[in-house]
Amino acid sequence: MPDKPIILTVDDDTEVLQAIARDVRSGFGEHFRVIRAESGERALDVLRQLRIENESVALMLVDQRMPGITGVELLVEAARIYPDAKKALLTGYADTDAAITAINEVRLDYYLVKPWDPPEQRLFPVLDDMLEDWVAAHPPEFDGIRVIGHRWSEASHGAKDFLARNLVPYKWMDLATDPEAAQLLELTGFTSADCPVLIFPNGQILPCPTTQQIAEQAGIRGHAEVPLYDLIIVGAGPAGLAASVYGASEGLRTLLIEREATGGQAGQSSRIENYLGFPSGLTGAELSRRAITQARRFGAEVLLTQEVVSIEEHSGAIGVCLGDGSQLRAHSVVIASGVAYQRLRVPGADELTGRGIYYGAAFSESSSVRGEDIHIIGAANSAGQAAIHFASVARKVTILARGDSLSSSMSHYLAERIHATPNIDIRYSTTVEEICGSERIEEVVLFDKSTGTRRAEPARAVFVFIGAAPRTEWLDGSIARDERGFILTGPDVLANGKAGMWRLERDPYLMETSIPGVFAAGDVRLGSGKRVATAVGEGATAVISIWQYRASMGL
Ligand SMILES: Cc1cc2nc3c(=O)[nH]c(=O)nc-3n(C[C@H](O)[C@H](O)[C@H](O)COP(=O)(O)OP(=O)(O)OC[C@H]3O[C@@H](n4cnc5c(N)ncnc54)[C@H](O)[C@@H]3O)c2cc1C
Repeated sequence: MPDKPIILTVDDDTEVLQAIARDVRSGFGEHFRVIRAESGERALDVLRQLRIENESVALMLVDQRMPGITGVELLVEAARIYPDAKKALLTGYADTDAAITAINEVRLDYYLVKPWDPPEQRLFPVLDDMLEDWVAAHPPEFDGIRVIGHRWSEASHGAKDFLARNLVPYKWMDLATDPEAAQLLELTGFTSADCPVLIFPNGQILPCPTTQQIAEQAGIRGHAEVPLYDLIIVGAGPAGLAASVYGASEGLRTLLIEREATGGQAGQSSRIENYLGFPSGLTGAELSRRAITQARRFGAEVLLTQEVVSIEEHSGAIGVCLGDGSQLRAHSVVIASGVAYQRLRVPGADELTGRGIYYGAAFSESSSVRGEDIHIIGAANSAGQAAIHFASVARKVTILARGDSLSSSMSHYLAERIHATPNIDIRYSTTVEEICGSERIEEVVLFDKSTGTRRAEPARAVFVFIGAAPRTEWLDGSIARDERGFILTGPDVLANGKAGMWRLERDPYLMETSIPGVFAAGDVRLGSGKRVATAVGEGATAVISIWQYRASMGL
């Protein structure tokens, strides 16, 4: 049984230190060990010793005003020892400015203004939130699924990526580098040709499983409980999650269907910094976990690893057909199927996908690229975030950008951070012409259009972010779309020469598509904002239109 994770409290005032430690212990002592340190220097000694003893530190709660080193300075040092621990500063009212500066400097998670009485209102909820996040990101060792496989295998990457994106804890065991992996594989009776082999905590072993098999065994698939819903939502990105929260919380029997993993594109963001209410930013995984918990709490059902393959109009309801051949019905549908990454169309890219070429951020590969030189193709925000994320593990990150600056394609705050990160190199005016390698990626051939030169250079991993296209091919003419595939809604249904597809007297409601009762929200919709906040707003707005629609139908 591993020791309880630690909460470290630091204050030079003995009375305050005792009081904070006492309060924290009374709220969290059952699951965490609370340790005190009476100075910044002492706290650093304690942290170093804990690291040697392989202890987990979940939270550091540190006073700002201390003689010697200040709270912020201490947190800067402490983050080198325990980079993943949550960081909170205890401040007086006069130190608020220092705390706000610290949000950027040390990625402070929270600052608390003294006094914190009553703790039930001013201390516990804040700590609870931070500790819940920490626990979600740090499952106890060996408690989850073990995945044995080869780094340069598309199937192994697929299994890891699927588990990571669905927030299922797993331990990756690489046959090439981990002797325990080979021993364990032998015990299962399978061979390296059967990899990836997944071992579940209940002893079940699955060789080379499909994502559906993994989802079923991991208990994340879910089944529709009834054949008819008030609201079915297609896609569990920010727009779909918001529609589920607003639909279910307002009493609609709601089903959310997702084909891959909750969070959509946002789930792949290493840090979303422009979402209102989170001044320190939050990871896409955190946002998805919170949103899916919220949707379920309001009673929304969630069906994972199920793909919606078509939508049909029936009298009185809309038919939603799933990839497994089953059909559900709903009074209203929200399509929130977002966009998908465009594939890299150069020789070698398809053959080496999953063997060094990855689409999106693929954070499941973070440990594999530790200490290596990697490439990122693209210069928009998603590429920028990935560069910052991988720069903390890789030796060097090279961004390959088609244009001659980042300013036209990337947010200012992100571009500045990239310029300030010493191990990120940017090659402007550069495109990839070929990917070379047999079993795995070995080289990329680059063309520099400013000099007209072409050269090959070694590559270990290439992450591709070159734009996205709407995921609407499955609608196959049933709903009006523009020439690129984005869904038309509201007034756009009647414009663009598509008015013939609308057959009611009334105009379509906001976000309503050419099928009455079917709405679209988020990136898949023509004219959407392509941001987390706008997708969330559209998901919520679609539900308001659904109430209008229901009233018009006497539902
Ligand atoms: C790496 C990255 C970082 C980003 N960072 C930021 C940021 O910091 N700030 C910001 O504002 N924006 C950011 N964005 C953009 C933001 O994530 C998107 O605008 C937002 O996620 C769009 O939400 P959505 O719900 O419309 O679609 P998506 O997020 O694309 O979700 C759509 C979901 O629908 C599912 N789906 C598709 N078809 C089907 C089907 N037929 N059946 C069932 N399910 C289906 C998909 O699997 C997916 O999960 C980032 C994007 C990326 C890729």
